[in-house]
Parts: sequence; C-alpha cells; structure tokens
Amino acid sequence: RAKSAQSSSACIFEDNMQTEFQMKYNVEQDLRGAIERQELELAFQPIVDIQLPKVVSLEALIRWPTAKFTSNPQEFITIAEESKLIEPLGKWIIERAITTLKEVNTKLGYPVRLAINLSPLQLEDISLPAYINDCLKRIDIDGSLFTFELTETALLTESKRVSSSLQRIKELGCKIALDDFGTGYSSISHLLNYPIDIVKVDKSLTDRIGVEERGKRIFLGLVNMLKSLQLSIIVEGVENYQQYYVCKEVKVDKIQGYYFSSPISEKNILRTIKSLNKELVR
Ligand code: C2E
Ligand code: MG
Ligand code: MG
Ligand code: MG
Repeated sequence: RAKSAQSSSACIFEDNMQTEFQMKYNVEQDLRGAIERQELELAFQPIVDIQLPKVVSLEALIRWPTAKFTSNPQEFITIAEESKLIEPLGKWIIERAITTLKEVNTKLGYPVRLAINLSPLQLEDISLPAYINDCLKRIDIDGSLFTFELTETALLTESKRVSSSLQRIKELGCKIALDDFGTGYSSISHLLNYPIDIVKVDKSLTDRIGVEERGKRIFLGLVNMLKSLQLSIIVEGVENYQQYYVCKEVKVDKIQGYYFSSPISEKNILRTIKSLNKELVR
C-alpha cells in the first residue's frame, strides 16, 4: 500500500512539473510573438519630491495587454530571462523609455528623470553600456537624467561583468539604484560592493510603518543608516496619508506609490504630472 501511495504522489509531482513546463513554454511562445508584433507597452509611475514639491522622476514599468496566460511582469520577465527573450525585450524597453522621456521633457517645461529596471541577465551582457550610449546619442538626451534599477539577485553572483557594466553605465552619467531594498538577505553588503547612488525602500517595509511601532522603528533606523551613507532614498509603495506622513517626519523627500499616482500610460504622462504638481502645491 505504501508503495502505491508513493508512486501516485510521484505521479502528481510529475504531472505538476509537466504542467509548469507546458505553461512556461506557452508563455514563452506567446511572448515571442508579442515582442515581434510590438504588443508590449510601457507604463510610467511618477516619483514625487514632497519637499519641492513636484514630480521629479518617472519609473518605466513593462505592460503586456494582449497576454494570453499572464500579464504579471514579475512572471513573464522571469520567463523572458530563462528563454533569452530578455535581450530583445530589454533593448526595446530601454529605447522606448528613453524616447518617451525625450518627448515628455520637450513638452513639460522642466526636466524629469527616468528610472529603467534592468534584469540580472541584461547586466551580464557586456554590450549593454554601449547600447545605452547609442540610444542616448541617437535620441539626443543627457545620460544624467537616467537611473538604472537593479534588484539584489543581479548582484548576488559578484560577477566581473556586472561590476564593469555598472561602472561603464555610471560613466555615461546615469545613476544606479538598488531596488526592493529590505527584502533580500544581504542588501547591506551590496552597498559596500557596488557603486549605488539610490536605494529604493521596498513596499513590504512601507506597509508596516503605519501599523506597528516596531515597523516604524525599523524604517527610521534604515533611513538614518542610508542617510549617513549619503545615499538618496526613494520610499516605494506609499498608499496612504499615514505612510506619507511618516516619510515627511523623517525627512525622506522622494516617494513613489498609489497615494500620489499608480503607473499610467504614455499618453497620460503630461496631464498626470501637471495635475499632480497642482495638487502638491495646494
Ligand atoms: P519594481 O521595480 O519594484 O516596481 C514597483 C512595483 O510596485 C510595480 O509593479 C508597481 O506597479 C508597483 N507599485 C507601485 N506603487 C505601488 C503601491 O503604492 N502599491 C502597490 N500595491 N504596488 C505599487 P509591477 O509593474 O507589477 O512590476 C513588478 C516588478 O516587475 C517590478 O518591481 C520590477 O522588478 C519588474 N519589472 C517591471 N517592469 C520591468 C521592466 O521593464 N524590466 C525589468 N527587468 N523588470 C521589470
Ligand atoms: Mg523598480
Ligand atoms: Mg521596487
Ligand atoms: Mg519590486
């Protein structure tokens, strides 16, 4: 009896593997077609400086409106990495984002920055900095307006290629941000080992600053440490007045979150920035 129980559970396991494999394959095929047909889009989320107060930056976030299986960026970006599709997709994101910022800044009347997420594999590609430089030159916009955001997983391997890519990207005038800070297990060591300018405090920490004293204290301690390292801080996932108020209290200026704006489509950027700026000074 034990034996048959075992083999049936092995079967279920294989079944799950089969389905997962099939699913990944389906998403990969769907994504390949979508990239070719240029069906992906970028959304842009404003980052506000509450001291000034105005919108000072945008973050480009990938969207896949025609997806048949999953439109979750976390999920399909992972599959894109596993299947090498991240190379064309990553390049498209960079070019599209830079082009959009050029248009926005031409019409807005003052320059805002733009943050672009990079996946670990993109950083392993030694031709990435030259590609970014080509885009900047061709589109004719200053590199100092751009931030490239990386998560810990990109830095975990401690590769020479990653270090030299980061160095060369910084030589273009761009800044480097460590994304999702506070979620990984060695975040702090990355601040020693890599040329990081900006730290983005993860939503999971923000979520707790208004609900429990300990959450607030961890947040305060973290902010003070980052400040003493002279790092810029952006707090992510601010959704309500209470969280906003804590940021204001501890003099964190840059905030991103639904409290100000969710990610918006390209055609709504100018309108959203202008109306947000009006609300902010009120
Ligand atoms: P991220 O870079 O940390 O981006 C922030 C995520 O939090 C975005 O989710 C954004 O929509 C969401 N968010 C912002 N403010 C709030 C808030 O107040 N409340 C809540 N609940 N969520 C908020 P999204 O767009 O689903 O992206 C998820 C992740 O997927 C990103 O996390 C990033 O790691 C990755 N990703 C997105 N776009 C790209 C891309 O173009 N390239 C790469 N390599 N990764 C990307
Ligand atoms: Mg990000
Ligand atoms: Mg983040
Ligand atoms: Mg994230």
